[in-house]
Amino acid sequence: MLITERNDLLPINIGGEMRLGAGSESSTLYPATGEVVARLRAPSLEDVNEAIERADHAFRTSGWAQKKPHERAAVLYRVAQIIRERAEPLAQRQRLDNGKPISETRNLVASAAGTFQFFAAACETLEETLTPARGDYMTMSVYEPMGVVAAITPWNSPIASEAQKVAPALAAGNAVVIKPAEATPLMALELAAICEEAGVPKGMLSVLPGRGSVIGDAITKHPLVKRVSFTGGTSTGKHIAHIAADKMMPVSLELGGKSATMVLADADLDHAVNGVLFGIFSSSGESCIAGSRLFVARELYAPFMDRLSQRAAALRVGDPADERTQMGPLITAKHRESIEGYVAMGLGDGATLRTGGKRPEGALYERGYYYSPTILEGVQNTDAICQQEIFGPVLVAMPFDNEEALLEQANNSVYALAAGIWTKDYKRAWRIGRAVQAGTVWINTYKQFSISTPFGGWRDSGLGREKGRLGILQYMEQKAMYWGLNEQPLGWAN
Ligand code: NAD
Repeated sequence: MLITERNDLLPINIGGEMRLGAGSESSTLYPATGEVVARLRAPSLEDVNEAIERADHAFRTSGWAQKKPHERAAVLYRVAQIIRERAEPLAQRQRLDNGKPISETRNLVASAAGTFQFFAAACETLEETLTPARGDYMTMSVYEPMGVVAAITPWNSPIASEAQKVAPALAAGNAVVIKPAEATPLMALELAAICEEAGVPKGMLSVLPGRGSVIGDAITKHPLVKRVSFTGGTSTGKHIAHIAADKMMPVSLELGGKSATMVLADADLDHAVNGVLFGIFSSSGESCIAGSRLFVARELYAPFMDRLSQRAAALRVGDPADERTQMGPLITAKHRESIEGYVAMGLGDGATLRTGGKRPEGALYERGYYYSPTILEGVQNTDAICQQEIFGPVLVAMPFDNEEALLEQANNSVYALAAGIWTKDYKRAWRIGRAVQAGTVWINTYKQFSISTPFGGWRDSGLGREKGRLGILQYMEQKAMYWGLNEQPLGWAN
């Protein structure tokens, strides 16, 4: 249905005004067929400045920041409700925008609604504190909104990652400029329209798609932008951190990963096999938390790998519109080439192929950017294929001999985003879970997510935490207030 839109250029949201950008034209393609889903023109740098100035104006004059928390919350509850009312068309649109299977885009839309609901509640229940006084004054710690904040997002889970930033930022009283990924601009435009319909004042939200190195860079450097919340690749995150250092601007950076999944000898095989498959191959591996490095106890390695490879080869790769599809296409032809390059590099370095390593064959796959679930073994944890993030359906597998060697290898990575442990021994799970260096550890499960639980990475996987009840504080400045209670003038001046 949406593919018929391709003849009209789609307006973008510049400070609440829906109009064509004055920048270059780009198209979003359906990764399953390569067809054009929508065409739009990116903003020019003048459009970017205008959107940010309008956001600043809206922040200062629209009254949003001055609303009582329960009043802002009421609008955000309404956003959640509208997302739920339009869940199916939104999920279908996201499927077209990034090619994820419909079963998954439905979950992402539901998660976006839940995120708005959660941060509405966080907003209306956030407490400011009366701190213990240590003099003749009363002391308080309160929070203020920051002004204009930027949300820069990747293409892999658009509406969910945008909601994760926009909901707490608006709840805190800020204006938000969203910079969606070039390949997936559609959901941010939908989300901004829904927010406005629910009662967020015009200008409080802009959507500025386009090239990251041009539009994202200009947003990050703009003096009126007071915080950047970024999700994307580590090198982009480091670049943003440099700009932020020059501006003395806080940033949160949700970056890449090469997460270790550890299967101990006593693991429940069915659970572990299913968990490992889901951890790496769901979302076609285009997931920051993909469990892409597998360590299996040596005594279990052969039977486990037999079972895992057979099941991986039988995964249903195909049409994202089919409810039974487990793996859709990759985001772009170029991204598939990059994954093919990594697999060739691994094989060149001595890895052996257990399954996959090629494009699936057949009429269904001719036009889309499909790649088969791939497992490589015969590798060392220090090999490039085990150290670099591939961001696709490629798993590297290694046996381990003891807990010490396991932890040494699992922690030997520049990334430290997530880890998984499969064992029936809860004491070992606790010990390994505490010793493994990662922002999130799953024990006998994997890739489960809750908006109520803070999320983020260590080392090259990021800085700061999103989600959680206190996630709203990322978008606020903390202020101390002292109320003098002294009946006498301050003594010093006497
Ligand atoms: P990317 O870094 O190329 O782009 C992310 C966003 O940043 C896009 O909107 C892009 O246009 C923008 N951007 C690019 N250059 C910029 C610049 N110089 N200044 C400002 N903005 C710029 O990443 P990607 O390829 O879209 O996404 C894949 C990466 O995202 C992977 O590394 C993945 O692990 C990571 N990711 C992390 C999380 C997490 O929560 N930790 C979640 C999803 C994806």
